[in-house]
Amino acid sequence: TKWVYTFGDGAAEGRAGDRNLLGGKGANLAEMCSLGLPVPPGFTITTEACNWFYANGRTYPPSLEADVLAALDHIGALTGRRFGDPEKLLLVSVRSGARASMPGMMDTVLNLGLNDETVEALATDSGDARFAYDSYRRFIQMYSNVVLDLDHEVFEEILEEEKARLGYELDTELSAIEWQGVIAHYKATIEEELGEPFPQDPREQLWGAIGAVFSSWMNHRAITYRRLHDIPESWGTAVNVQAMVFGNMGETSATGVAFTRNPSTGEKMLYGEFLVNAQGEDVVAGIRTPQSITEKARIDSGSDKPSLQKVMPEAFASFVEISERLEKHYRDMQDLEFTIERGKLWMLQTRSGKRTAKAALRMAVDMAAEGLIGKEEAVARIDPASLDQLLHPTIDPKAERNVIAIGLPASPGAATGEIVFSSHDAEEAKALGKKVILVRIETSPEDIHGMHAAEGILTTRGGMTSHAAVVARGMGKPCVSGAGSLRVDYRAGTLMVMGETFRKGDIVTIDGGNGQVLKGPVAMLQPELSGDFAAIMEWADATRRMKVRTNAETPADARMARSFGAEGIGLCRTEHMFFEGDRIIAMREMILADTEKDRRAALAKLLPMQRSDFLELFEIMAGLPVTIRLLDPPLHEFLPKTEEEIAEVASVMNVSAEKLRQRTETLHEFNPMLGHRGCRLAVSYPEIAEMQARAIFEAAVEAGRKTGNPVVPEIMVPLVGLKTELDFVKASIDAVAKSVMDETGVTVEYLTGTMIELPRAAIRAHVIAEAAEFFSFGTNDLTQTTFGISRDDAASFLDIYRQKGIVEQDPFVSLDIDGVGELVRMAAEKGRATRPDIKLGICGEHGGDPASIHFCEEVGLDYVSCSPYRVPIARLAAAQAAV
Ligand code: ADP
Ligand code: MG
Ligand code: MG
Repeated sequence: TKWVYTFGDGAAEGRAGDRNLLGGKGANLAEMCSLGLPVPPGFTITTEACNWFYANGRTYPPSLEADVLAALDHIGALTGRRFGDPEKLLLVSVRSGARASMPGMMDTVLNLGLNDETVEALATDSGDARFAYDSYRRFIQMYSNVVLDLDHEVFEEILEEEKARLGYELDTELSAIEWQGVIAHYKATIEEELGEPFPQDPREQLWGAIGAVFSSWMNHRAITYRRLHDIPESWGTAVNVQAMVFGNMGETSATGVAFTRNPSTGEKMLYGEFLVNAQGEDVVAGIRTPQSITEKARIDSGSDKPSLQKVMPEAFASFVEISERLEKHYRDMQDLEFTIERGKLWMLQTRSGKRTAKAALRMAVDMAAEGLIGKEEAVARIDPASLDQLLHPTIDPKAERNVIAIGLPASPGAATGEIVFSSHDAEEAKALGKKVILVRIETSPEDIHGMHAAEGILTTRGGMTSHAAVVARGMGKPCVSGAGSLRVDYRAGTLMVMGETFRKGDIVTIDGGNGQVLKGPVAMLQPELSGDFAAIMEWADATRRMKVRTNAETPADARMARSFGAEGIGLCRTEHMFFEGDRIIAMREMILADTEKDRRAALAKLLPMQRSDFLELFEIMAGLPVTIRLLDPPLHEFLPKTEEEIAEVASVMNVSAEKLRQRTETLHEFNPMLGHRGCRLAVSYPEIAEMQARAIFEAAVEAGRKTGNPVVPEIMVPLVGLKTELDFVKASIDAVAKSVMDETGVTVEYLTGTMIELPRAAIRAHVIAEAAEFFSFGTNDLTQTTFGISRDDAASFLDIYRQKGIVEQDPFVSLDIDGVGELVRMAAEKGRATRPDIKLGICGEHGGDPASIHFCEEVGLDYVSCSPYRVPIARLAAAQAAV
């Protein structure tokens, strides 16, 4: 096996495509060398060597030592130097480099090869003793920290004390002799801490550093990072060993970093910073204030420190040329690291640069216009999930943040408003034109109207899949959940944190993008959906096959979704319509009715309200398909709970509160999610489904008349497990359809179908398809029922499952393709076998998740349906899935 790949002087054994073997940094160093760019020579030890290291009890492959020594000789030959030889001193850097850039990996060690003897040679050789001792002390610091595992601060303290004693402010003020004093102090401290002196043998130093890079693959920080970013352990890291070039050789030397385009706006301009007489990470470490690279950026930032363009015009000119060349070569914005040694430019790193969502859009559109990439590639470049950042108001990055608590970033966007502690107060304040943040310990289905009325939701309990989080995401409202340091006292009407008490009416701001809770109002930026965003969306729409619909029941959501490009409604949850205003009273009357007659009387009150709801939705959707789900949730969700609520319903129904309370108790269920809900309601109380069907058909007739756009309603029967259930409900839908058509003389086309949300329905899909004209995969319930995990209770243990590596992802966020997905695939195939033109869609939360959307494309679904704010994400993800 070849463990070591060399690069230098216009040639390299590896290339950019060898990322898996050489890591990102090593592969790109090789590529830059092959392009003939000035790169200090070096070599890369492969990720396979790292894997060998772990497979063999942290030892090296037998031939590695000889290979490394040969590669060192190769560097020596190219530079005219020799590692460990004071006469022709060769110093190297040891740099880690995984496939994906990974903070948490070992830090780089620079100036390796220095010791008490070679440092003197370096001083003589360079004619600059200050530079030599500055380099040595840096090396001791880095090596001790990274390889010997000593605390960084120990060294910082020694240096700070020395500077204070000398009355200096900057490191660069220390002379050679003064650095020697610091070094002596450093070495004494190390010996004291470790019981042995700082290693003087360059080879021992080198192997120490190589071992530290490999070992850092398994350090705690790296493991955590991998878990958060789904990076497999099997990738391993490469090690890069490279001849040093020095940015700290006085006033004609410098080091810097740059982006070929502005990473936060996407503007095409070289953007970066540098420091004269500095090394390595000094620029980012904030030791001194860095200077701009271009004159233009200097002027824009109002800095009076001269730009690189001004102080080193020649090095600047070659840097500009190289950066343009690299961007063209990689066809993407590059993040560059460079060093200038006595006027000569050296390239030390290039990679595709990280960028904000906004910048990503602008760059993709610009690069397509420049002909650097095609439109399809432009679409592929955008991470669909990142669009979330753009669709909501966000906190102005320049605004000051007074953070009082941090919870989970449960639903993106930022919101400011007055604190309210109940949904009732939220609605009342909203009616007065106030903006509010609904603050709850946790939310329940009864809070839907309050959540609608609020600008944002803040809870002290619950995770990313808690009720508040799921509903808020669905509504596109910012939400911070589980902010555990907040103490809410409903009775006292207070929110306490950090010794401060907030009351109803006090202003807070939440940032659903990072989970922060802030005191007072904060300046916001509004989303912008034109320009680059619109262009990418247009290109995406030209590519995708699946339609994108929305889950919506309110006119506001439906309109919002249309403006985001939704092509119909995939799920209208009629129960949400019953929580609004006075309807809840009529709804409670209906549920608590003892007889069919009373129930019908209550339903008669609900009919006109439902009809007008549907009419409005049909008008907004103007001929696009609308799927309406019949009443689904367990009835207990609507029951009156407080004495006040019971009294209210009792008086409307003209019964005693006591009787009502009894009736409420009889409706109690032990396991409501698996209880009297879904189509079971329509079987027990056919009059409910009849009323809803009537409202749908009457609204369809009227919408057709008003708009001239005939609506084709799709009526969806929930929670079907048996074909006979669907047959039963369908019969009454058909009967109502017929009578409405007879009454009005208007023909309404419609489809009847079902949600596939029980494993039995998936297994019997070929039979159910005899009655169903469409299937909509209700993957929220299908996930609950397949796993036997209640979504509302999952937070408490799913996190532990993830930490312990038992599940990789929350199956309620991203579809479990192996299990739940298998049922979807099977049901789709069986459904098509019975009814080739059966319409197939998905309406669970997964309909807005890019990975799940890829799966839907693979299975050949006709559409995905998601919450309004996820519509653009789904459009983009569906396009990416189609290519
Ligand atoms: P990271 O992955 O954290 O960016 P790097 O390996 O790129 O770490 O190194 C950190 C810093 O050290 C960079 O600024 C780089 O320019 C500098 N550096 C690395 N190797 C050399 C070298 N051979 N000569 C001069 N500077 C170097
Ligand atoms: Mg770097
Ligand atoms: Mg369901």
